[in-house]
Amino acid sequence: MKYDIIVIGSGPGGYIAAVRASQLGKKVAIIEKYSTLGGTCLNVGCIPSKALLDSSHHYYDAVHHFEEHGISVENPKFDFAKMVDRKAKVVEQTTGGIKYLMDKNNIDVYEGLGSFEDATHVKVSKNDGSSEVIEGTNIIIATGSKPSSLPFISIDKERIITSTEALKLKEVPKHLIVIGGGVIGLELGSVYKRLGAEVTVVEYAPSITPTMDKDVSKELTKVLKKQGVKFNVSHGVTAVERNGDEVTVKANNKKGEEITFTGDYCLVAVGRRPYTDGLALDKAGVKVTERGQIDVNDHLQTNVSNIYAIGDVVRGAMLAHKAEEEGVVVAEYLAGEKPHIDYNLIPGIIYTWPEVAAVGKTEDELKEANVDYKSGKFSMRALGRSRASGDIDGFVKVLADKKTDEVLGVHMVGARVADLIMEMAVAMEFRASAEDIARICHGHPTYSEAVKEAAKAAWDGKPLNA
Ligand SMILES: Cc1cc2nc3c(=O)[nH]c(=O)nc-3n(C[C@H](O)[C@H](O)[C@H](O)COP(=O)(O)OP(=O)(O)OC[C@H]3O[C@@H](n4cnc5c(N)ncnc54)[C@H](O)[C@@H]3O)c2cc1C
Repeated sequence: MKYDIIVIGSGPGGYIAAVRASQLGKKVAIIEKYSTLGGTCLNVGCIPSKALLDSSHHYYDAVHHFEEHGISVENPKFDFAKMVDRKAKVVEQTTGGIKYLMDKNNIDVYEGLGSFEDATHVKVSKNDGSSEVIEGTNIIIATGSKPSSLPFISIDKERIITSTEALKLKEVPKHLIVIGGGVIGLELGSVYKRLGAEVTVVEYAPSITPTMDKDVSKELTKVLKKQGVKFNVSHGVTAVERNGDEVTVKANNKKGEEITFTGDYCLVAVGRRPYTDGLALDKAGVKVTERGQIDVNDHLQTNVSNIYAIGDVVRGAMLAHKAEEEGVVVAEYLAGEKPHIDYNLIPGIIYTWPEVAAVGKTEDELKEANVDYKSGKFSMRALGRSRASGDIDGFVKVLADKKTDEVLGVHMVGARVADLIMEMAVAMEFRASAEDIARICHGHPTYSEAVKEAAKAAWDGKPLNA
């Protein structure tokens, strides 16, 4: 078979690239080594983690917050197996939706491992041992990423686990030790904390979420501590060992003292590595960087001119929406259009409760770039909407250029900020000033009023409700 475009990998990067290419009249094939489509995001990432976060959030609310609303639920209980089963059904429906999209867009789906024969031919090795070779004028590599570990840790997938196993445990851990205070560690740590586990986070950097704005890290640490999560920052893990049902994690603290943590599960959440295993890139002559990412130019084109790469397997944020945008960009570029991505405006979100969301520059980044900026902050506590719901933790912070008032960065912690952040991403795409946002009528009472107020604080230093 000959195609205009072959996409290898059906995650959010790959399947969106395939759909967009097909919409633009291309004959497209997609190759996926697993039997379900959707990649990390749909199978073992964004969707299942959010399903468990939502279920555990309901339970946590019933235990801790219903009472203050005047609702009594005697001895709330949860059925963990049912929770995990619900998560599996959500995944099944969502991955089924991708299959539907492939059919609707006349995209040929090949199940099997894709590997290059040369720059235009890809062999699909199927589970039944058979294989076939298909030809593509252009090929898009969208093979994503896998959890990474530390060299001295051996992941046994039972007690010493990655996010993949953490999403399908058979029981709630008694004490979950999370190595890594990044997005994945905090989200999955939150799930199990809400369900009653003791959760200890061990982080090498001096703060959790080290790449986010410092105020955000501080606030998130504070609220998660209030929920009972224990944090050990500036702790470099040196050993992880399993003894039967017990896991021991050793770490050196700032003073060089060795600290030992003992639990029944250890989640290793130290990041993800680009995944190119089995692709036989050498047969096509595609180069990778020293970090193992496929090397691409601004058009996401590799050193082999007809081969492109997108998503987690290339440089940049490992996020589903970034992968999707890159999928659209490559498909449109191959159709002769002139697409564009603003990498500065890719929102970063953590689905803890309260949520965390950010877009644009952090204060540290602005300082480093010598940008003269001003900052406006508004506390969620001052909002009528927050008091009505009881979600009073968090803030919105708007950073704007001191001279022009252009919004340069927005950082939020609070209820539903995962959705609120998009107002500011849109505003920043249109290069809005803080005054522009402050002058837009925001519905009352909504959480979005915190955005307006923080923008006013950044513009003229005078929020109205604080
Ligand atoms: C627990 C967790 C939670 C997350 N939550 C979020 C979130 O809330 N929001 C967010 O934006 N991001 C989230 N992410 C990150 C997100 O999942 C990834 O950024 C995203 O899936 C990357 O998409 P991709 O298309 O590049 O690759 P992937 O989704 O990794 O898909 C790659 C696909 O390629 C297939 N493949 C690989 N090699 C071959 C081959 N040789 N032949 C055939 N098929 C192959 C793989 O099997 C896989 O299906 C989360 C990740 C995890 C682990």
